[in-house]
Amino acid sequence: MAAKAKDPVCGMHVNPEVARAAGLTAEHGGEEYYFCGRGCRLEFLDDPKRFFSPDYVPSM
Ligand SMILES: [Zn+2]
Repeated sequence: MAAKAKDPVCGMHVNPEVARAAGLTAEHGGEEYYFCGRGCRLEFLDDPKRFFSPDYVPSM
Protein backbone atom coordinates (compact mmCIF):
# COMPACT_ATOMS: atom_id res chain seq x y z
CA MET A 1 0.00 0.00 0.00
CA ALA A 2 1.12 3.54 -0.68
CA ALA A 3 2.51 5.57 2.17
CA LYS A 4 -0.34 8.01 1.89
CA ALA A 5 -4.04 7.60 2.23
CA LYS A 6 -6.76 10.15 1.79
CA ASP A 7 -9.10 11.17 4.54
CA PRO A 8 -12.49 10.71 2.82
CA VAL A 9 -14.09 13.41 4.96
CA CYS A 10 -11.80 16.40 4.47
CA GLY A 11 -9.61 15.20 1.59
CA MET A 12 -6.35 15.59 3.52
CA HIS A 13 -3.53 13.14 2.94
CA VAL A 14 -2.92 10.93 5.91
CA ASN A 15 -0.08 8.58 6.75
CA PRO A 16 -1.82 5.24 7.37
CA GLU A 17 0.73 4.12 9.95
CA VAL A 18 0.34 7.28 11.96
CA ALA A 19 -3.43 7.13 11.71
CA ARG A 20 -3.49 3.51 12.78
CA ALA A 21 -1.23 4.18 15.74
CA ALA A 22 -3.55 6.98 16.82
CA GLY A 23 -6.70 4.89 16.37
CA LEU A 24 -7.88 7.12 13.53
CA THR A 25 -9.16 4.37 11.28
CA ALA A 26 -12.54 2.94 10.40
CA GLU A 27 -13.67 0.00 8.35
CA HIS A 28 -16.41 0.27 5.82
CA GLY A 29 -17.42 -2.23 3.16
CA GLY A 30 -14.30 -4.32 3.80
CA GLU A 31 -11.93 -1.37 3.29
CA GLU A 32 -9.97 0.49 5.88
CA TYR A 33 -10.14 4.28 5.90
CA TYR A 34 -7.80 6.72 7.59
CA PHE A 35 -8.53 10.07 9.14
CA CYS A 36 -6.60 13.19 10.06
CA GLY A 37 -8.38 13.48 13.38
CA ARG A 38 -11.16 12.26 15.60
CA GLY A 39 -13.67 14.74 14.25
CA CYS A 40 -13.39 13.37 10.73
CA ARG A 41 -13.53 9.78 11.95
CA LEU A 42 -16.69 10.44 13.94
CA GLU A 43 -18.33 12.20 11.02
CA PHE A 44 -17.51 9.27 8.79
CA LEU A 45 -18.86 6.72 11.27
CA ASP A 46 -22.00 8.77 11.68
CA ASP A 47 -22.95 8.42 8.02
CA PRO A 48 -20.35 6.68 5.82
CA LYS A 49 -22.59 6.62 2.74
CA ARG A 50 -22.47 10.39 2.52
CA PHE A 51 -18.76 10.34 1.77
CA PHE A 52 -19.12 7.96 -1.15
CA SER A 53 -21.70 10.03 -2.91
CA PRO A 54 -20.44 11.42 -6.22
CA ASP A 55 -21.77 14.80 -5.09
CA TYR A 56 -19.65 14.88 -2.00
CA VAL A 57 -16.75 17.31 -2.13
CA PRO A 58 -14.20 16.84 0.65
CA SER A 59 -13.57 19.99 2.61
CA MET A 60 -12.12 20.99 5.91
ZN1 LIG B 1 -9.89 15.00 8.09
